[in-house]
Amino acid sequence: MNEWKQVDPLMLHQGEKVLKALLESGHSAYFVGGCVRDELMGRPVHDMDIATSAKPEAVMELFERTIPTGLQHGTVTVLMEDIPFEVTTFRRESQYEDHRRPAAVEFVDGIIEDLQRRDFTMNAIARSLDGRLTDPFHGEADIRGGVVRCVGKAEERFEEDALRMVRAVRFASVFGFRPVKSLWRALIKGRDKLSFVAMERIRAELERVVLGPDPLRGMELLRRSQLLHYAKVPLNEANTAPKQRLERLAVLPHLAAEPGELRWSMLLQGLGVSGGEAAAKMKQWTFPNHMAQAAARIILFDEAWCEARGASSKTGTDRLRQSWIELQILFGKTTAELWLRRQHQWLASQHGDRSADLPRLQELGRELEQEQKWFLEVPVQHLQDLAIRGNDVLVVSEKKGGPWLGELMKHILLLVANQELPNEKEPLLEYVKAVVKHNES
Ligand code: ATP
Ligand code: MG
Repeated sequence: MNEWKQVDPLMLHQGEKVLKALLESGHSAYFVGGCVRDELMGRPVHDMDIATSAKPEAVMELFERTIPTGLQHGTVTVLMEDIPFEVTTFRRESQYEDHRRPAAVEFVDGIIEDLQRRDFTMNAIARSLDGRLTDPFHGEADIRGGVVRCVGKAEERFEEDALRMVRAVRFASVFGFRPVKSLWRALIKGRDKLSFVAMERIRAELERVVLGPDPLRGMELLRRSQLLHYAKVPLNEANTAPKQRLERLAVLPHLAAEPGELRWSMLLQGLGVSGGEAAAKMKQWTFPNHMAQAAARIILFDEAWCEARGASSKTGTDRLRQSWIELQILFGKTTAELWLRRQHQWLASQHGDRSADLPRLQELGRELEQEQKWFLEVPVQHLQDLAIRGNDVLVVSEKKGGPWLGELMKHILLLVANQELPNEKEPLLEYVKAVVKHNES
């Protein structure tokens, strides 16, 4: 049967054209890897990788538009009507250095040997133009059985490239699969080799877990294996985080369409990373600085706001509202807004959960309404939003500038934000005069 059900027809048509062209020039060629796997699983195929006996130079000669993506690894990207296809020469990898990339790749003649270098049985299936599968490691059966299994001996495969351990967790998590016992044993035995792998590659796999349908599953596997403890920049918290805290992460699938900083703030917090350490930790994890800062701000906001909420039974609603406004100004409107979104999604995710504590959820819902109202009410956000400038203050006060000026401006900003003063020039300058006079007397 030669029917692809999970591929966009246009992509399929162009992909088949690439395969045909290779076959017609006397090479062998197959669809391989993720696309074959996803089709068998009934999951949408987002790209089609091709493996061929043709050498990269031959591939580049054969097609009009190509990009030499990774010539030394045998990969050329072929563009067909703007759709990219990665075409990789059959290869074997050898002499892995430091438990990561192979030092040498060697082109080989047959597809079987190419499939042998691949990580898991489900990723080591080839599909010919007429739809026949080459599946020497019984990947189809493992897909049906819902298991992640290495091609060959797990211990050796993890020894070669330690990233495969994180990939095993990723595939188990995203597909809801179970790692076979031998894989799990090898992972526990080989986990200390993870320190050789670049954080960037680990992060990319983790990102897939977080974006997947059941990140909790991945987190639980990470917790049980303590794998991240052995990364170059360890995430100790992943091991020690109690289960209840991990359960907060159930919201992650609901955040898939939200900005990355929102997801990572949730994930890090779920793993027990505090706002104070989050930015540094994320930078070490090779996140861009702006992402690290933004996620840290959300966690800091959450920590400060939870504390204010906790104290509010003593301090009362007015004081609580003031705290919200102070925090919104301190951490910025964007942070407050992201925090509200996160809270909203979390509540939404809990409503479908029968084990949730309903009265508590209702209370949180009421609190969220209040927070949203305060968020919208704050009339000014930055010093630039004020109706007066520092210079105006200097003129009416007849004083020299200094640190006092910045402090007074911030104080006025809070008063205006709190709607204790109107944001109009005259009343604000009157206020400045009164303060100066008071301070002089
Ligand atoms: P998806 O792109 O949907 O995440 P994929 O299977 O295409 O899944 P990629 O990371 O794009 O995953 O890799 C493409 C293929 O290359 C895999 O299917 C697998 O056969 C092989 N592969 C990728 N990384 C490794 C690795 N570290 N060791 C061995 N084989 C690998
Ligand atoms: Mg892929």
